[in-house]
Amino acid sequence: MPEGPSVRKFQLLTSRFVGQVVAKVGGSSKKINVNDLNALRLQDSQEEELQELQDSRADAPSAAGELGGSWLRFHFGLFGSIRANEFSRASRANKRGDWKDPTPRLVLYFESGGFLAFYNCRMHWCSSPVADPTSDILSAEFHRGRALDALRTSHPVCYTLLDQRYFSGLGNIIKNEVLYLTKIHPLTQGSLLAQSDLEHLLDCAIRFTSDWLQSKLQGKGLHLHIYQKEQCPLGHKVMKAALGAPGGWKRLTWWCPECQPAVLSGGGDLALGDE
Ligand SMILES: [Zn+2]
Repeated sequence: MPEGPSVRKFQLLTSRFVGQVVAKVGGSSKKINVNDLNALRLQDSQEEELQELQDSRADAPSAAGELGGSWLRFHFGLFGSIRANEFSRASRANKRGDWKDPTPRLVLYFESGGFLAFYNCRMHWCSSPVADPTSDILSAEFHRGRALDALRTSHPVCYTLLDQRYFSGLGNIIKNEVLYLTKIHPLTQGSLLAQSDLEHLLDCAIRFTSDWLQSKLQGKGLHLHIYQKEQCPLGHKVMKAALGAPGGWKRLTWWCPECQPAVLSGGGDLALGDE
């Protein structure tokens, strides 16, 4: 599932071509007229993570490229990907036994001879991208104090971590993993945590996300501790529930009740029970 680091990889791959002019276009997309892209210059590329409420399965991250003054936005599905100077190859035979390589939705050939191939994505034109580096946990401009203030409220930390206003690029996998690694119950109210715990949680989220990006760039997978697991690494039974702010999007959350004990508020009531 593409999450922050996947989309960051998109940005790193495409940024090499910024400033270059499209010399030829290919791909199977019917949604846009690919020939419109001919002779346009790639002026910028940005990542963004938009949560689409109607799609409860996918994080629906997206990225945008500025071509000839307009932005072409790409939404990646669960299997969306982008390649630079190479095509995706079949990893197995299809039902008929053919080794048929995946068909890219769009291929942009640049005057330098390099090309970008986009797979399993939807594309549309838009007027401007929405990416704010101060909320991007991997950006040098990330606003750490604002993020800590958001975490320190009485909302459960698992809601705040997915708030893209403060933590863009932080998706559901990262949320689950860093709460396990910091031994924090997902429904803990941020106001009940010590400042040092909040700092540790934020550091852990940043480190996890940047390590994930590095392993992606090296083509390696990610070792997960709790996400979609039945047992935690210590062998305890893992709990699972769809959690989210009232009226908001509920996201599947896994936690270990032994490693991540519930923190009770002053009144002795947990924000929501463990079932
Ligand atoms: Zn455990």
